Amino acid sequence: MKEINPYLCTRMEQMEEKQPYDVIVVGAGAAGMMAAGTAARNGLRVLLIEKMEKSGRKVRITGKGRCNVTNARPAEEFAEQVRTNADFFAQAFAEFNNRAAIKFFERAGVKLEIERGERVFPKSGKAWDIANALLEYCFENGVKLIYDTRVTEIMTLGNKVFGVKYINKRGFERKEECSQVILATGGVSYPATGSTGDGYAFAADLGHTIEPLRPSLTPLVSSHAQIRHLDKVLLRNVRATLYIDNEPVREEFGEIGFSDRGIEGAVALRMSRDAVDALIDGKRVKLTLDLKPALTEEVLRDRIARELAELAPTEFFGELLRKLVPKPLVMPLAQEIDVRANCYVSKLTEEQITRLVRTLKGLTFPITDYAPFEYAVTTAGGVRCEEVNPYTMESLKIKGLYFAGEVLDLDANTGGYNLQIAFSTGRLAGMLKK
Ligand SMILES: Cc1cc2nc3c(=O)[nH]c(=O)nc-3n(C[C@H](O)[C@H](O)[C@H](O)COP(=O)(O)OP(=O)(O)OC[C@H]3O[C@@H](n4cnc5c(N)ncnc54)[C@H](O)[C@@H]3O)c2cc1C
Repeated sequence: MKEINPYLCTRMEQMEEKQPYDVIVVGAGAAGMMAAGTAARNGLRVLLIEKMEKSGRKVRITGKGRCNVTNARPAEEFAEQVRTNADFFAQAFAEFNNRAAIKFFERAGVKLEIERGERVFPKSGKAWDIANALLEYCFENGVKLIYDTRVTEIMTLGNKVFGVKYINKRGFERKEECSQVILATGGVSYPATGSTGDGYAFAADLGHTIEPLRPSLTPLVSSHAQIRHLDKVLLRNVRATLYIDNEPVREEFGEIGFSDRGIEGAVALRMSRDAVDALIDGKRVKLTLDLKPALTEEVLRDRIARELAELAPTEFFGELLRKLVPKPLVMPLAQEIDVRANCYVSKLTEEQITRLVRTLKGLTFPITDYAPFEYAVTTAGGVRCEEVNPYTMESLKIKGLYFAGEVLDLDANTGGYNLQIAFSTGRLAGMLKK
């Protein structure tokens, strides 16, 4: 992968040669860079404005710094992972799908590999390679890029775009006339990366409806008395069931983690989409974990009987638990079952063993809240898709205004789907004409 300086840009003061731009792209994130590079490659003069000091700050931290850049599943399975407006997204995906994204990055010199769950990562393990490939795509096609500059207004005349106003961090204000603007300002999650929801405000001012914003793929907060003892515990191969008003609505198998932010890990994050909506609607939410999904209650009971037979009568209940679950779960489980960890195994009653079996098959966490946008991977909600042309990404209300990426009411599960949404919609928006 070619080295590229992510801070490199065209400074506002250096852009003396005044020439009209065919399009201004607001936001140099995944969607904005894809849109800008595509428009420039098609021969348009493109100005890309980014308010942070470098491009793609969010892309650079994706996938815990490794960037799960897309998912290689077939189209139908891919669409099932898009949680909102999958039909709207289908047009953008048809134009630039996951195979096209893989080719795009490989052509740019980023070697990719496919991991469990068809998740695609750069072989280097570096999200920076993805961000830099997008930046390089902009530069090699002649995009003018300015950093540290915040767009403050989308100017319109009647129902047509007329240009943008922007200001740099030294307070230097400027207007740029242009009849086409692509809003790729992202959502409101992880606002320190620059995504602070400016695009929603611009779109709302111009008459667009903004579907209510909610954190998605966000840790879930539980009122379980033992939750603080589980901090930093990671459980693999558990089956989780999400209940809303006591009805099971979603079942997932995989990893669950606990942190001071709440219950996370891929399984909990995926469930958070439904859990957050239910909590907002005032419904009762709980998560149950089957810690022994491969065993029926009967088989588990036999297994416990075997373990007990091997323990001396004077061994403690904690020792039995230690043979069944990871160490950090011993005390919380003992308390849940209401048996002291230092109770002799010989004193265990049938009823207590039944409680142990049931708890191992269904450890329940009441969910009372969710972590805020600061910790959410994506934003659910955004610019209403019915007000945007799915074949072009142009606003149906304002001529010359286009949208790309998370600013739209599109969100998906974890697994590389959200970046693909940014790439596909960015690519389509960038195919606009002069
Ligand atoms: C921690 C974390 C990990 C993630 N991991 C993955 C993953 O592995 N795989 C995956 O598919 N998805 C992942 N995502 C989600 C994914 O990163 C986003 O969905 C995607 O980056 C959205 O792209 P975007 O271009 O729409 O928005 P962003 O990437 O947020 O870019 C928006 C850009 O617009 C700029 N901007 C905003 N307002 C203005 C303004 N007024 N003027 C100028 N510039 C402005 C911002 O500074 C920002 O650079 C992750 C998200 C997070 C937070």
